[in-house]
Amino acid sequence: MTATAVINHRELYRLPWTLPDNAISWLEPTSACNLACDGCYRENVKDSHKPLEVVRMELELFKRLRNADGISIAGGDPLMHPQIVDIVRTVAEMDLKPIINTNGNALTNELLRELKQAGVYGFTFHVDSKQGRPKWKNKNEIELNELRLQYAEMLAEVGGISCAFNSTVYEDTLECVPELVDWAAKHIDIVQVMVFILYRAAVPNLPFDWYAGGKKIDMGPLVYSYIEQKKVDLKAPEIVAKIRERFPEFTPCAYLNGTEKADSFKWLLSGRIGTREKIFGYVGPKFLEIMQTFHHLFKGRYLAYAKPQLTRLGKSMLLLFPIDKAVRKIFKQYSASVMVDPFSLFKRLHYQSVMIIQPVDFMPGGGQNMCDGCPDITIYNGELVWSCRMEELKHFGCWVRTVPKDGVEITV
Ligand code: SF4
Repeated sequence: MTATAVINHRELYRLPWTLPDNAISWLEPTSACNLACDGCYRENVKDSHKPLEVVRMELELFKRLRNADGISIAGGDPLMHPQIVDIVRTVAEMDLKPIINTNGNALTNELLRELKQAGVYGFTFHVDSKQGRPKWKNKNEIELNELRLQYAEMLAEVGGISCAFNSTVYEDTLECVPELVDWAAKHIDIVQVMVFILYRAAVPNLPFDWYAGGKKIDMGPLVYSYIEQKKVDLKAPEIVAKIRERFPEFTPCAYLNGTEKADSFKWLLSGRIGTREKIFGYVGPKFLEIMQTFHHLFKGRYLAYAKPQLTRLGKSMLLLFPIDKAVRKIFKQYSASVMVDPFSLFKRLHYQSVMIIQPVDFMPGGGQNMCDGCPDITIYNGELVWSCRMEELKHFGCWVRTVPKDGVEITV
């Protein structure tokens, strides 16, 4: 059995994101992809590139319905879209931060420079060992750090672009998570965010039947339906416990709860300050509250992503020590280290986020616990929908319900 950390949600900052006012929205200009990752929730459809006018219409609909700071440009792989540079430019012209969510396969130095000119704000690279990458077959999560570093260095060379990585966590890759957290710490100057997404799929070991409206259905046609038994219920506190085996001081500060369960951690955020050599500590809930509140107060929207120009201001962030006691602790640790090595005062301190995302959970009574204030809301047929479940709408025309199988004891 996996160990779990005890985390009290009442001691963390609840990220203030809601359906109409959020940090992020999710744009899918294409469903085409050049990889087939285990855990992907979008069917790979060739020739599914949306025309630029449709993309613009979706952005306008977002603008009308949902205040946001950043637009995650996802898919499929958005770099497959022949007009990706125009899409990025359109997002930037609408005063939104364009963040490209990609596996990175199609990224060249030339394209990166064009995207920067068009106004790209950041990249989130999805890299993990179950993507079937042609040149990285049989490489484990740790060996893939070499590829992560290539992408991070590519961005660093161009400069001024936020760099994030996400990695799906499966039962058999959980062991590697602390190593990835360590790798991110050692590259804190060029990696701004590390995200772990817990694996979910429709599998036979779930004790439910699936219904679309009143009709029992077969989930088989969905890309995330499998006939093998798989573990699909890893939880964020288990990831925290695993990270703490190596980094006992690892402490989350903010979260998004579930729609069905107030004390579930659907997005669990930690923020740390340090150098490549040393992490001085983890910020507390007040730090995040100040960041989100002030950003909303002065810019009118909740903060999504920060460029390296901001995350390298770790020393200025320490000025929040009177308000956040965890920052006070970082300040003390840092001061003690400067006493020992005065030259370290001239080194920059960087800020880095570590996020754990726990997608849909099934409740014993058949409820589906989604992320309350979902940041990855996208558009389908003119409506705001969960991007992680859009295939249900495409195949069945409605959200699929889970109903406990006959004979399964229901404990609510
Ligand atoms: S509800 Fe689904 S789409 Fe929204 S943030 Fe959670 S996992 Fe992502």
